[in-house]
Amino acid sequence: MRTLARVLCALVLALTFVCPAAAHAYDVGGAIGDAWRAGARSAMGDPTGPEVCGLRDRGCYQNFQRGAMYWQQAAGAHWVRGAIQERWGTMRWENSPLRYPTTDERCGFRDGGCFNHFQGGSIYWSPASGAHPVWGLIRDRWESMGWERSPLAYPVEGERCIIRNSGCFQYFQGGAIYYSPATGAHPVFGAIFDHWRDSGWEAGRYGYPTGGEACRTEGGGRICDQRFEHGTITWRSDRGIVTGVDCRVARCVALTYDDGPSSHTSRLLDTLGREGVKATFFVVGDMVDSRGPTVSRAASMGMEIGNHTTHHGTLSSMSYQGVRNELNPTSDKIQRLTGRRPVWMRPPGGATSTTVQQASADMGMGVALWSVDPYDWRDRNAATVTDRVLHDVRPGAVVLMHDLHGTTVDAAPGIIRGLKAQGYTLVTMSELLGQPAPGQVYRSR
Ligand code: ZN
Repeated sequence: MRTLARVLCALVLALTFVCPAAAHAYDVGGAIGDAWRAGARSAMGDPTGPEVCGLRDRGCYQNFQRGAMYWQQAAGAHWVRGAIQERWGTMRWENSPLRYPTTDERCGFRDGGCFNHFQGGSIYWSPASGAHPVWGLIRDRWESMGWERSPLAYPVEGERCIIRNSGCFQYFQGGAIYYSPATGAHPVFGAIFDHWRDSGWEAGRYGYPTGGEACRTEGGGRICDQRFEHGTITWRSDRGIVTGVDCRVARCVALTYDDGPSSHTSRLLDTLGREGVKATFFVVGDMVDSRGPTVSRAASMGMEIGNHTTHHGTLSSMSYQGVRNELNPTSDKIQRLTGRRPVWMRPPGGATSTTVQQASADMGMGVALWSVDPYDWRDRNAATVTDRVLHDVRPGAVVLMHDLHGTTVDAAPGIIRGLKAQGYTLVTMSELLGQPAPGQVYRSR
């Protein structure tokens, strides 16, 4: 029968020069033919070639004027066309992880969007976003949010993988979905997305999202929380983003830099900003006078500023009033430059005493000592300092360094990356330890 039909069709093909409205040039048979005659014809037009079989999993396809129809036993017969067909083609059609279409193209969704579902995922298209595949756990999560009706809207690219801890992610018009085997797939969008991005994505201080956004109304305002591996990002309608790394959960470490600000401090701030991490600066009042803008900049970047006295004198040999005289002018300067009075002081040389603690208590400051000392002031070698910090660090450590030395600033990128690779989150003193009890001595968490 098929041979006879082909002969007839060849005859018809010859006749179409004379009579273009004659029957189609090609057979449309089998399941593709059934689907075509049942309604796909209006979308697809007439065949422009023969049915081709022997594809993956014994599938077949046939090209039509406005697209193609694919058939495979498990998937059924369905058509693809336009941008979705093209995108599927760039992935090598049924040889891609999507395999065969399981629906025809369906249109009329948000912002004029269309999609095809496939055995291994979907391709979504809209005029503004283009056509992009979505599959696996990211697709499941997007589906649970209501597909393109969610705040994410449409995908704007395919999935990308091989980031920290074997993660994958996909961008959408309104945000992203991030996945890792340990944390699962979760969406991030809106103001929380912006803050998380600026903090260095999944490699930054918060790590991967461990849940979706949870919102509630409180006191007439709206509050949304989202948990990440190392803390929670909160958005409030009255205050915007409020955040905190939770050092009870995260492996935290506080890098502290004493004796500045110096001519090297700006470069250190550049590094900290680039890496999306925080540190604490114990500044000397005499040094602040010529470099006030550096202190203001550090504070505006979220660094914490502590008091390291005015003249770097030995506080343990001073009277109560002498200690206050060393600390007070510097707290005043810090407050003028940053708008905040320091809650931490560090005695030069770590030389504390009950008198120093009493004066600090009366001035509302905790006494900040340290648990890791790489002797950067003595050994002016970036590699040595880096090795010592990375070897001696423990969760909850306070690391003592000095931004007075160029070699210490040279060591910062290696220390930061090394700590991140060990799973540490770099925080300020107050993030590590909370608001200090005035006069109490702290060495680590
Ligand atoms: Zn010092």
